[in-house]
Amino acid sequence: MSECIFCKIINKEVPATVIDETDDILVIKDIAPKAPVHYLIIPKLHIINIKDLKDTPEHNQLLLNMYKMVRKLSDNLDGSKDFNLMSNNGADAGQIVFHMHWHFLSGKNLFKH
Ligand code: AMP
Ligand code: ZN
Repeated sequence: MSECIFCKIINKEVPATVIDETDDILVIKDIAPKAPVHYLIIPKLHIINIKDLKDTPEHNQLLLNMYKMVRKLSDNLDGSKDFNLMSNNGADAGQIVFHMHWHFLSGKNLFKH
């Protein structure tokens, strides 16, 4: 996907602050953080969003690995290990980068009641 910003970051054609990297996942800092900790968990595979996921061994393993990464990021937080995990799926939900990614946010209560 030559025009995809996240593919370019994954291919190291565009710089980003890398928090963690595995064979199938890249974690970077969001360029416009909405909380003191704001990471993006990005599969290296160009999947558009959750609606694009298939029930295949490759996608199922990727999902499991993404959740394991979430837990690792939480474990590695300084102070409170609490976090929000969110994703925008489709333009009507506010998605602007059409390469699947999960927002990992911590250090701010985003849903104060
Ligand atoms: P959304 O598609 O609504 O989940 O929003 C895309 C997210 O990616 C936003 O929070 C942006 O701040 C973030 N973003 C866009 N470009 C970059 C970039 N080059 N490096 C890091 N984060 C980015
Ligand atoms: Zn991409």
